[in-house]
Amino acid sequence: MSQPCVNIGMVGHVDHGKTTLVSALSGVWTDSHSEEMKRGISIRLGYADATIRKCPNCPEPQCYTVSETCPGCGEPSEEVRTVSFVDAPGHETLMATMLSGAAIMDGAILVIAANEECPQPQTKEHLMALNIIGIKNLIIVQNKIDLVSKEEVIDHYKQIKRFVQGTVAENAPIIPVSAQQNINIDALLQLMEEHIPTPEYKIDKPAQMLIARSFDINKPGTPIEQIRGGVIGGTLTEGFLSNGEDLEIRPGYKLESEGTTRWVPIVTKISKIFAGKEPVDKATPGGLLAIGTSLDPAITKSDSLVGQVAGKPGTLPPTRDVFTLELNLLERVVGVIDEAEIGSIRTSEPLMLNVGTATTVGVVTSARKNVAEVKLKRPVCASAGSMVAISRRIGSRWRLIGVGVIKS
Ligand code: GDP
Ligand code: MG
Repeated sequence: MSQPCVNIGMVGHVDHGKTTLVSALSGVWTDSHSEEMKRGISIRLGYADATIRKCPNCPEPQCYTVSETCPGCGEPSEEVRTVSFVDAPGHETLMATMLSGAAIMDGAILVIAANEECPQPQTKEHLMALNIIGIKNLIIVQNKIDLVSKEEVIDHYKQIKRFVQGTVAENAPIIPVSAQQNINIDALLQLMEEHIPTPEYKIDKPAQMLIARSFDINKPGTPIEQIRGGVIGGTLTEGFLSNGEDLEIRPGYKLESEGTTRWVPIVTKISKIFAGKEPVDKATPGGLLAIGTSLDPAITKSDSLVGQVAGKPGTLPPTRDVFTLELNLLERVVGVIDEAEIGSIRTSEPLMLNVGTATTVGVVTSARKNVAEVKLKRPVCASAGSMVAISRRIGSRWRLIGVGVIKS
């Protein structure tokens, strides 16, 4: 398997079949956390890689496959490229996780179940998130077609068409699929090749890795001399990292002493890089990476470094606990039954902010028409010009209300 070169998001309403589709494409069931198994829903971001292959003999779309032998003619298939899937949770309470996943998506597949009216609330909310974050390379999967009649599929297709009018997904291809029965997976692979190109990455810039997962990979009871260092997972947005190099992670860890709080960058060494399933010497942008470090695994366990940024020491953007945002708010709240108008941002209101893969809460210290200054409860590492997804508490939930750009 070659190194993955693009991140494809799997988004959409809960239970519409995102995790099943990732599994059909990659063979990996990403809901592996015990709570996810118990409740049957995705809670964390799921990761899986798949190598798209093509049979040299068969016609399109049948020639597209993920298996090493062509299911049509039995001949060996040829590798096209390896992609990484970012499986987002679809439950409305997990919007922050979806947004941190969206920060690393180069394109996305919006999964819509054909056996429910379209749009469901998070079908709408996820599409709106892609829309305002600016993820333009989209494919719509009309899933679970095995559960409905042909007439119902056509009627549902029309509902989707009406729903996407005027959005980034307006011209996105819509493909009927059954993730569970493996129907039209070959045609979906072909669409991925045609509509979600591999981005051109800037590798001459300093490395910036957005951390989307972090782990302790040791089994309980591992003897101390066999303990392996903490692992971080995520994607390089630019630059490259090599095995054996020093690595800085920001904002780092919280140090409280004599009533003051400081965030201290973590410095460690890269001991292993995994891209795809294989260890590599050098990691480049695109696709998901896992990096082994010499850190105490207690520092990385249970996603504790999610939202931080890693790179070569001394090259990372500043750690900020206040910033000024230039605002671009939506007109209405989406993803709820009663789509109320969004009023302007007020001084002293709390906002949930997603910056890269980081989720933080900030309090507005000053607000003018299109500009707000926000003081963060938990700092973020981000350069000026970074995009921030802004959510406001409405009822008992954070709802996406717009985006901002960090001015200073
Ligand atoms: P997610 O919440 O979007 O990740 O949805 P899951 O992948 O967990 O699927 C939710 C349920 O729908 C599971 O019980 C799946 O087996 C089922 N499912 C997913 N895809 C299909 C499909 O194409 N056909 C049918 N009949 N069921 C499906
Ligand atoms: Mg899922």
